[in-house]
Amino acid sequence: MVRTRCHGGESAGTRRPGTPEPLVIEARSYDIAVIGAGFAGLACARRAAERGLSVLVLDRKREPGERIHTTGILVKEAWEEWAAPDELVRKVSRVRIHTSSHQFVELKRDDYFFLATDTAALLRHLVDETCAAGAEIRFGEKYAGATRNGTRLDLDGAGVSCRFLVGADGARSRVAESFGLDRNVRLLKGLEWEYEAMDSVGDTLHCFIDPECAPGYIGWVVPGVGITQVGLAVHRSSKADVQKFVDRIDVLFGLSGRRVLGRRGGVIPIGGLLRNFHGDRVMLIGDAAGMVSPLTAGGIHKAYRFGRVAGDAIADHLDAAGGPHPGDVVRRAYPKQSWKRVARWSYDRLPVARALEAGLLTRGLFQKLAGKVFFDRFV
Ligand SMILES: Cc1cc2nc3c(=O)[nH]c(=O)nc-3n(C[C@H](O)[C@H](O)[C@H](O)COP(=O)(O)OP(=O)(O)OC[C@H]3O[C@@H](n4cnc5c(N)ncnc54)[C@H](O)[C@@H]3O)c2cc1C
Repeated sequence: MVRTRCHGGESAGTRRPGTPEPLVIEARSYDIAVIGAGFAGLACARRAAERGLSVLVLDRKREPGERIHTTGILVKEAWEEWAAPDELVRKVSRVRIHTSSHQFVELKRDDYFFLATDTAALLRHLVDETCAAGAEIRFGEKYAGATRNGTRLDLDGAGVSCRFLVGADGARSRVAESFGLDRNVRLLKGLEWEYEAMDSVGDTLHCFIDPECAPGYIGWVVPGVGITQVGLAVHRSSKADVQKFVDRIDVLFGLSGRRVLGRRGGVIPIGGLLRNFHGDRVMLIGDAAGMVSPLTAGGIHKAYRFGRVAGDAIADHLDAAGGPHPGDVVRRAYPKQSWKRVARWSYDRLPVARALEAGLLTRGLFQKLAGKVFFDRFV
């Protein structure tokens, strides 16, 4: 006998008093089901719950913060939108961009900073805030598919039905696949090792233009919260050899012989917002929809921001007055990013590091261009 789970939501079917318990109990019913308790899913769920909708979030992980796949650096704007407690973040106000021959250019703006995070603890904090806003979150539940049932969607095997489904389930979205929506095809893969905190790193985010170790992107050393994070991202078809990268930058930081405390890794969609990212009663957000800067490969701020825009738009759409499809609202709000696509195209094809080392690209011009990439402003 299948029994309804008795927390949150309301039963889609009602039982008259005195009638025996049904053998098959109907799905619990929610306004929105969100698949994925990452940055995008939590931002969307929180906003929708604040707007008074009944919200269920499902995540296949056993607990929040398990198996972190991101470096977790926040841009200032992300922190302003969803501030994290001081003990979960570390301010980084300087960026140093190195070439493989250890020349570097330094960037700094007095009114700008990045934040390294204790990412697992930050996600746990966001989960608590989302629950406090009224959303229900279940861990250890994997989305496998959904079936249309009149104006509702029944989640296969979950005993849950919803009026609107949000796929916030990352770069390789199962929701996208099950609804025939577009999927991310341009991907970088990233790998990162965690070491103990090291004074040699200072309060600086170190980035390395190193076409040999990090073809297609960069390597990095981050002064994290209680740790040092060393990683690189490469084209999906290339090998991400962190040990080789560590050996190359050893002279700067003295990493060799130190114990690796943890490892993270995952894929990063850099093809931009997918064309077909929504359909009838369903939409994708965050990495699932390709909401990542094609140039910096940062996606947390976009996940927050457009998760929240989606939560609002879904509330308007499900309202009796019936707002436009939330996917259309998000598409209109999403930045065009044309110059970033041009810049990525150029970075992929032009020998930036060699031009800099040979003096063909002057340090002043490089500093200006890099400032635009990191601070979205020429410095
Ligand atoms: C190595 C690396 C470093 C990065 N560094 C940064 C950085 O420093 N700053 C930055 O801004 N961005 C960074 N990014 C990108 C950033 O991590 C992502 O853009 C961001 O995490 C996207 O959030 P999201 O909520 O869309 O997806 P995710 O964080 O991927 O969350 C998706 C969630 O869905 C769940 N899920 C997946 N499938 C299912 C299923 N079938 N059923 C149930 N649940 C499911 C997963 O368990 C996960 O919790 C990095 C990415 C990588 C790979």
